[in-house]
Amino acid sequence: MDCLFCKIIAGEIPSNKVYEDDKILAFHDISPMAPVHVVIIPKEHICCADKLSEENSQIVAHIFSKIPEIAKSLNLENGYRIVNNCGEDGGQTVFHLHFHLLGGKKLNTQLA
Ligand code: AMP
Ligand code: ZN
Repeated sequence: MDCLFCKIIAGEIPSNKVYEDDKILAFHDISPMAPVHVVIIPKEHICCADKLSEENSQIVAHIFSKIPEIAKSLNLENGYRIVNNCGEDGGQTVFHLHFHLLGGKKLNTQLA
């Protein structure tokens, strides 16, 4: 499968990792939109939020259960934003489910 994030998981493309366990990986975004910009992905290939279901959505709970620890390691004690872009209209460019973790400054509140 020609998926950039699956290649990062496989170690075929390097990444600057901030957290990894058997189910998920978090790494610094290559073109950061904030002083701290990390991408958190499941190791299982799920293309997007629109393909989540009762069967595969436990991974989302796992990701969110680790976000406080990841945020703490990045010194985001003042807060942060979690973003998911889904599909073309949502601005998704890499079709492997991921959550952006953004912070390190007071973020602009415009959502769309
Ligand atoms: P999205 O636009 O929501 O699909 O987000 C994809 C994100 O992946 C963008 O913020 C890109 O900057 C980021 N990205 C693309 N290639 C890489 C890479 N090789 N390493 C880290 N982040 C990447
Ligand atoms: Zn993938």
